[in-house]
Amino acid sequence: MPIYEFGCPSCGGVTTELCKIGEKGAQLRCEECGNTGLIKHISGFASLGVRGGAGSGNCSPGCSGNCAGCH
Ligand SMILES: [Zn+2]
Repeated sequence: MPIYEFGCPSCGGVTTELCKIGEKGAQLRCEECGNTGLIKHISGFASLGVRGGAGSGNCSPGCSGNCAGCH
């Protein structure tokens, strides 16, 4: 199961929760202040791969950041 982070719009606290795919954070409570209606952040493996460097987000997986021969 994926791990999601839920941000609290009230206090800014982050609650980490194991969730089923597609589950929303509406039923969760903030660990800090008890507020409900947390907002789901994307975390974990979702950011794996194409990231960093000078990439603009559409680089090929092997791009080292200078995009030579990439696009
Ligand atoms: Zn909170």
